[in-house]
Amino acid sequence: MVNLAQSDGLLAVISGPSGVGKSTVLSRLFQFQDEFWFSVSVATRPARPSETEGSDYFFVDEKSFFAMEKKGELLEWAQVHGFYYGTPRRAIEEQLAGGKTVVVEVDVQGAQKIRQLVDLGEIPKEKAVFIFLIPPSVDILALRLRRRKTEDTETMNFRLRAALAELQVMEKYDYIVVNDRVDNAVEKIRAIIRAEKERVQLT
Ligand code: ADP
Ligand code: 5GP
Repeated sequence: MVNLAQSDGLLAVISGPSGVGKSTVLSRLFQFQDEFWFSVSVATRPARPSETEGSDYFFVDEKSFFAMEKKGELLEWAQVHGFYYGTPRRAIEEQLAGGKTVVVEVDVQGAQKIRQLVDLGEIPKEKAVFIFLIPPSVDILALRLRRRKTEDTETMNFRLRAALAELQVMEKYDYIVVNDRVDNAVEKIRAIIRAEKERVQLT
């Protein structure tokens, strides 16, 4: 049970198709560190050259990943693009209990698992908000993915197909934010979070 009833904590769950700009938008949101706490996931994929251990992900092997999972240390986890990704539970619980807005970036399966925790009453309904980032168009998504140059063509096509499938689930989220310009998307996310924190609690 994530004990949140008496705190001002809010769990902001952000998803979006590969290449939509999640990392870019979240790193810009990082400027407002006093407003948010960013969860760092564990991942079994290799680090990209630009990535830093403990800041982008905690990079672990599968054995360590499943040891954590077995001990109940992950709030949720999923297999994405052939690797495993999971959200460490304890740090999030501590930050939420301290009244922070915790931002977690997860794929659509991860968001669905967190939604189940809300449905089960483990996370109070008014303490979680689900935001889906979308590109202005599918062509622009393909362009961004191609421009990022972090994947070979085959992986990129695979990610693009997965991205198109992910776009189908956006109605399961509370808010859709179009990442047209990064600063617009950041402001929309901040506004959503500010409003959610003022939501009337019917407890
Ligand atoms: P994700 O984390 O969702 O996979 P990234 O943040 O890596 O996506 O962004 C993919 C590419 O798109 C990067 O090259 C990034 O610089 C670019 N990008 C992100 N947001 C925008 C935007 N609003 N306008 C133009 N390019 C963007
Ligand atoms: P990438 O390899 O591009 O960093 O991330 C691939 C996908 O994994 C993205 O959709 C991202 O949102 C998702 N992801 C990152 N961390 C987690 C996590 O802790 N849990 C889940 N379920 N997905 C994650």
